[in-house]
Amino acid sequence: MLEKKVNMLPLDDIDIQDDFWKEFMELVRCHVIPYQWEALNDRIEGADPSFCMQNFKVAAGLQDGKFQGMVFQDSDVYKWLEAVAYSLMWHPDGELEITADGAIDIIAAAQQVDGYLDTYYILNGIEKRFTNLMDHHELYCLGHMVEAAVAYYKATGKRKFLDTAVGYVNCVYENIGIEPGKKQGYPGHEVAEMALVGLYGITGDERHLKLAKYFIDQRGQSPLYFAEEREKNGNYFHWANSYFKDQYYQAGKPVREQDRAEGHAVRAVYLYTGMAEVASATEDKKLFTACERIWNNIVEKQMYVTGAIGASEYGEAFTFDYDLPNDTVYAETCAAIGLIFFARRMFEITKDSRYTDVMERCLYNGVISGMSLDGKKFFYVNPLEVVPEASEKDFFKKHVKVERQKWFGCACCPPNIARLLSSIGGYAYEMDADSIFMNLFIGGDLKAVLGGNENAFHVKTDYPWDGNVKISVANQKKSRFTYAVRVPGWCSTWSLSVNGKMDTYPVENGYVYIKREWSNGDEICINMEMPVKLIAANPRVREDIGKVAVMRGPVVYCLEEEDNGDQLQEIYIKKQPIFDVKYEKDLLEGVVTLTTDGLRLSEDDWDEKTLYKEYKGRNFKEQKLKFIPYYAWTNRMPGEMSVWIRVE
Ligand SMILES: [Zn+2]
Repeated sequence: MLEKKVNMLPLDDIDIQDDFWKEFMELVRCHVIPYQWEALNDRIEGADPSFCMQNFKVAAGLQDGKFQGMVFQDSDVYKWLEAVAYSLMWHPDGELEITADGAIDIIAAAQQVDGYLDTYYILNGIEKRFTNLMDHHELYCLGHMVEAAVAYYKATGKRKFLDTAVGYVNCVYENIGIEPGKKQGYPGHEVAEMALVGLYGITGDERHLKLAKYFIDQRGQSPLYFAEEREKNGNYFHWANSYFKDQYYQAGKPVREQDRAEGHAVRAVYLYTGMAEVASATEDKKLFTACERIWNNIVEKQMYVTGAIGASEYGEAFTFDYDLPNDTVYAETCAAIGLIFFARRMFEITKDSRYTDVMERCLYNGVISGMSLDGKKFFYVNPLEVVPEASEKDFFKKHVKVERQKWFGCACCPPNIARLLSSIGGYAYEMDADSIFMNLFIGGDLKAVLGGNENAFHVKTDYPWDGNVKISVANQKKSRFTYAVRVPGWCSTWSLSVNGKMDTYPVENGYVYIKREWSNGDEICINMEMPVKLIAANPRVREDIGKVAVMRGPVVYCLEEEDNGDQLQEIYIKKQPIFDVKYEKDLLEGVVTLTTDGLRLSEDDWDEKTLYKEYKGRNFKEQKLKFIPYYAWTNRMPGEMSVWIRVE
């Protein structure tokens, strides 16, 4: 059975009160969401205009003008509305809701009689619509519209945006599909697949599931739709001479025959998420097996230690197995977010911690590294090694920025971070009729009907800095249900007690299942030992050989120039280092730092005039090394940074 065994807990039932995550959520709510609204309306001084809202107004006939900005500009307001929806679920805000309703009114006013709604074609000749599905993002915008509309309906109960989205979906259904007379195409940039399954969950309209399944089934079938479309459009194909060709779009062969992650990384993980959704909704075993195969390829051969994916800037893409360069990497924030989407669906089908472990790895490292600690600047590219001069002077490293950038014209990562962080509670907890699953350790209060009764839970923890988690149960009536806790893959020593009594509970697929009758005041205490660990990479990863990464709990650490001087490549960590683990309240909004005695190649061996000489061993001098969490790098002085360090 591939039917989802668990589902996200509704966000309005979760009140996160957690020093670590609440900070990020509030940054999104108080800074990112208002700032993005200004940006969508071209009111940020000194920034390139977005034209996003203006395009809708022109398309609606509310003002004069022409289409401006990127072909996928519409999607920016959809992502913003989705983040707003999640934020409203845990923090009702009448004023913000009025602003969002106003945006929705403008969007809806631009909708055409038959439901069509993409401002690029409304303003550039509607007769040309659906003629460049490969590159013109109409179905990508549709996907983001549906995701946002579903979230906004769940948050507010208001139907206007949902009805608008359904109108556009039904228009696409009438024009694209396997039936004679329809175009047999599919999205050039995936996201509609997962969105439509979510929409089907609300509408129950079979057409919505059918369209999602059609997009999955038709992708990569021969003759290739995109090849035929290119022929009609003058044969322009940017990836013609690349190694991926149509696989840039994951469309070179049918998805059930694909066995590794290929092409543009964000598109890829969005597709795989949609595949998992469709496999689950239609009980498609073969499709699910393809998801597992591709998942294994990613996490066993193509994922960075930070959970980042997409090794190459060329095509923002996956390359080949074990190709994980640290300094020319792409590792787009959106791709790590997409991997979380994929992980969540796979977990919901399997209840296996191998997926939620990866979700945690991405979250604490490769995702939140994408936002500055003040919520005002963002990374698209998340490198694991940076030398400022290289970013400045080496053409092939120019995409690797030394500092996060302000959110300007073309924006995909910032609103994506916003929608993920404002819905983080839903990733932390999932449930079925009589079990609750704790995937992530985040403090706060939640409620859930389990075993037929309403139960409340209070979670207290200083995770990820400390491995103790205390869960108190509050209920009016005793109720029998299962509290399932993930034992993280990084954790080798742990204990668990209920009301102070250590007991052994069954562990299955990485979750401890505590099944009992719960009474008011019952308490679960989990203690996970969190020693500092040195992590090695498979020797096939050329760049990491002879090096280690430092981790403590789920957090990957790095060395920064500010604490350790420049020329970080000269630094060696000792074979069995002893770390001083210290919580520094005033550093980087409060982080645990790790210090240890390390080594640096002695400069006495070399002078400025010598580039090469006969090797006669190496001399070292002692140096204290200070590691900070990777996600927090370059929030002080920009400088060199490295995750992988040579071992003595
Ligand atoms: Zn992005």
